[in-house]
Amino acid sequence: MRCDALKVLFLASEADPLVKVGGLADVAGSLPRALQQLTAEEAGDGKIEVRLVLPFHSAIKKKSLNPAFLFDFPIPVTDGEVTASVFFIEVNGIRTYLISGPPIPEDGPVYSSDPAVDGPKYVFFSLAALELAKRLEWQPDILHGNDWHTALSVYGLHIRRKSDPFYRNVRSVLTIHNLPFMGAGTEAAFDYFNLPSSEYALLPWWARKVPLPLGLQSADRIVAVSPNYAREITTPEYGCGLDTFLKTREKSIFGILNGLDQDNWDPARDTIIPNNYSLNSLACRQANKDALACDFSLNKDPEIPLIILISRMDPQKGVDLAVEGLRQTMDLPWQAILLGSGNPRLEYACQQLADDFPERIKAVIRFDIPLSRRLYSGADILLMPSRYEPCGLAQMMAMRYGCVPLARATGGLQDTILDENSFIEGGTGFLFQTAEAGALSMAIRSALQVFPDRKRWCGIQERGMKQDFSWERSALEYSKIYHNLLEVKL
Ligand code: ADP
Repeated sequence: MRCDALKVLFLASEADPLVKVGGLADVAGSLPRALQQLTAEEAGDGKIEVRLVLPFHSAIKKKSLNPAFLFDFPIPVTDGEVTASVFFIEVNGIRTYLISGPPIPEDGPVYSSDPAVDGPKYVFFSLAALELAKRLEWQPDILHGNDWHTALSVYGLHIRRKSDPFYRNVRSVLTIHNLPFMGAGTEAAFDYFNLPSSEYALLPWWARKVPLPLGLQSADRIVAVSPNYAREITTPEYGCGLDTFLKTREKSIFGILNGLDQDNWDPARDTIIPNNYSLNSLACRQANKDALACDFSLNKDPEIPLIILISRMDPQKGVDLAVEGLRQTMDLPWQAILLGSGNPRLEYACQQLADDFPERIKAVIRFDIPLSRRLYSGADILLMPSRYEPCGLAQMMAMRYGCVPLARATGGLQDTILDENSFIEGGTGFLFQTAEAGALSMAIRSALQVFPDRKRWCGIQERGMKQDFSWERSALEYSKIYHNLLEVKL
């Protein structure tokens, strides 16, 4: 067993609780902690030490946490250098470094829609985070990047490994949370920071100056956030033009499901929901369903299934399919509450559906976590008709709360839900194949046929609640990848 810990430099654009915009913050907030909490035996060969690096976003500055200033160092650019300033704070036992500097706006959002802002910001951050290890004299065994924002650290490592002994033995892992977001539009920043474009022949020409593809070209291991998404990205349907290239890297691509913060999402201890319950007291959910019926002026009949949608309103999530699928299933008795915000066209479609059938369908167009908890705790079916879904959290939350997911068989949804209508026993939800409203409507029909069979329905709920979606499980798998990578000769 190693006597010193395996050292991981973990880079992300956001991490809970410091700054959260989307699901990546949950990953970067939970995975480092879960990795550090593994015992030496669980981790395989000694403990793991993780140090987290984040941009010092204005959202973090506004929290007045007073991180300690450590030092400045220069990052070379075409006309001189820009200064990176490093601050330090320990968060939940994780040593966290915050990088600040002129390309990271003093008062801007975590992500801008303008590549002229995000390009220099994340190129600078990636290069500074890589250099930081050397300035700290802390040589990581693994550099672990996430998504396009930090992919250029992995690419930068690949370049520096050839010439700089400090980096020669550092291995890299790049996790893809969402392939379509590649960081296109950052070409000018490449030139400004003296980054060469790739000459790798297997990479399509259009991708040779795009951060995520360069990270994918240079990472020693690529992790997609579910085993199924790991396969899907090598196909034309999901590969976003990189499928042929990714196929050449197939042996280095792995799939690891994200976890769920099981303490935070626990129906037995959730302080927001009206009635707490667990596996042994599922019947208490009825009171939560009644409370929803009361608040939303719906029919309080336990025989009528309550269907919910909790989603970003985005074409990726198949919200249009949900609306149309429900319209095609109006002949059956069900009620629905649709919660989400985002694309105005999809918001309007949901609102229109609710306006057309006000007695049985409600639309709530906003982001509302307390309401989402109450919906998971009282509703019978969660719709998740995603066109693609790298991992998906909502279905895991639903299962943990005994709400049965009805989802498209894609990405992480296929890995986490076993179709009750499949030949394998032990279903935890309902799956349909094609991204079409008709297929969704058929799946709703088949779920509603099972619903009156209380014993069978309870079985589906209980099996869902028993699933292990812990971060510990994910951390164990990452730890295996790290250790195996150390065996590989560079
Ligand atoms: P994605 O990260 O692609 O949006 P996920 O399923 O991985 O999809 O995670 C979505 C998370 O956001 C879930 O926790 C879900 O409950 C939550 N969520 C989505 N829309 C809303 C909303 N309008 N109000 C509250 N929570 C929401």
